Amino acid sequence: MSVTGTESPWKGRFDTSLMRTMGMPLRYLVRGEGCYVWDDEGNEYLDFLAGIAVNSLGHAHPVFVEAVSKQAATLAHVSNYFSTPPQLELAERLARITGAGEGARAYFCNSGAEANEAAFKLARLNSSERRRTILALHNGFHGRTMGALSLTGKPAMREPFEPMPAGVVHIDSTMEALDAAIDDTVAALVLETIKGEAGVVDLPDGFLRRARELTARHGVLLIVDEIQTGVGRTGEWFSYMHDGILPDAVTIAKGIAGGFPIGALVTFGWASELFSRGQHGSTFGGNPLATATANAVLTEIESAGLVQNAAVRGTELRAVIESIDSPLIHEVRGQGLLIGVGLTEPVAQAVSDAALDAGLIINAPNDSSLRIAPPLVIGDDEVRVFGNRLRQAFAAVDGAR
Ligand SMILES: *Cc1c(COP(=O)(O)O)cnc(C)c1O
Repeated sequence: MSVTGTESPWKGRFDTSLMRTMGMPLRYLVRGEGCYVWDDEGNEYLDFLAGIAVNSLGHAHPVFVEAVSKQAATLAHVSNYFSTPPQLELAERLARITGAGEGARAYFCNSGAEANEAAFKLARLNSSERRRTILALHNGFHGRTMGALSLTGKPAMREPFEPMPAGVVHIDSTMEALDAAIDDTVAALVLETIKGEAGVVDLPDGFLRRARELTARHGVLLIVDEIQTGVGRTGEWFSYMHDGILPDAVTIAKGIAGGFPIGALVTFGWASELFSRGQHGSTFGGNPLATATANAVLTEIESAGLVQNAAVRGTELRAVIESIDSPLIHEVRGQGLLIGVGLTEPVAQAVSDAALDAGLIINAPNDSSLRIAPPLVIGDDEVRVFGNRLRQAFAAVDGAR
């Protein structure tokens, strides 16, 4: 397989025309179908990152293509002075699949960060003279806009952009820290159930249930960021369902429309009464094109049994990874089709690069972790090809050391 050289003309164009916010892209992709994508040189890759947990149905799925095409040809955008059938359908569907039920409300926007910005404003609306603090977890990730960034528990990401919006305190993900931090001065606790960007790191057993208990007792909003874990990826519609709890609010984005940009904040019960008319909004948010696509993707996830598939295939992938005989593999984390591989040495980028050369897309969220987040539609073939190519990648890195 040929490797794209530094002389590739697209690299120069990228380098001169794109903002210097990201590193140089790894490949120049031109097409996708099912769980595979192809680059400009005709190389094929099994996509087990799915645009970072976004392409729930894989690439160019007929349901996605038809939903976008049909709605674009019917009514794409109208402004928030008007409602549309797909918008109401999606709000009602989210009330059902989040478990929020009666009393649920949805706010629509265009990305994960924006969903968390709405959650941040929700937290401010639960504030008073005495109740001011917003708690979030060290090493958590909630997005790059200023409010979402202030919630993000990675100082290196925040520091160049300080001062941050005031009031956010980060705590450790331990029962002790939780017990010490939650009282009547706290407005909200914002957390991921599995820290995706931190390398797919699980919360301690019982942490979420304890958080629910304490926040309920003290009138604190429990806001769960399911932007990466939600929409079936962990083997439940939303990962808090594994713990049998309901939050006061959930933020959703990434996988909900299979690649069409959309985000949502869904509130439960009393949290649904906090916003009043005119306090928040977005021009594109909740337009019929985005919401129709989300409806179609969610309908397909439901009718094709993809939440169940995520649970079953997740177990299979875990077994495949554990069967690889490499001294570099330390542990397997995560749930369903959000999997982290903890390495014994800081060579995650080398393994991810070797995987790419072997025709497999995964990523390295940090020096010693790999992230695997394939489309929810993977079957026997994809599991087998994944095993072969990941084994090849580990063999290449083991051999080079
Ligand atoms: C990706 C992600 C975000 C940010 O979403 P964007 O759409 O990139 O703004 C926020 N929280 C979590 C947990 C994420 O994984």
